[in-house]
Amino acid sequence: MPAKGYIEVNELYCKACELCVTDCPHNVLALDMDRLTPKGYHPAYMVNPEACTGCGICAVVCPDAAITVYRYERNKAEA
Ligand code: SF4
Ligand code: SF4
Repeated sequence: MPAKGYIEVNELYCKACELCVTDCPHNVLALDMDRLTPKGYHPAYMVNPEACTGCGICAVVCPDAAITVYRYERNKAEA
């Protein structure tokens, strides 16, 4: 199934609490153990981006408002 959405993580705000990782219903997110944010945390990232539905749960549960969710528009042929 093609991705219906994607997210961006503001790494200035992410504190690696993992709430988005555990609450994403499609296992899209993980902490990037190879990178550190400017504050020294391993940031959340899309490890499985093709599974994102754009549901927005990750943004709702993030206590630091670090996530922005985007949804792809359906083109008219699919509608
Ligand atoms: S928008 Fe939904 S599916 Fe996509 S990463 Fe966030 S919780 Fe997971
Ligand atoms: S819920 Fe927010 S602060 Fe926690 S790991 Fe995810 S993006 Fe980072």
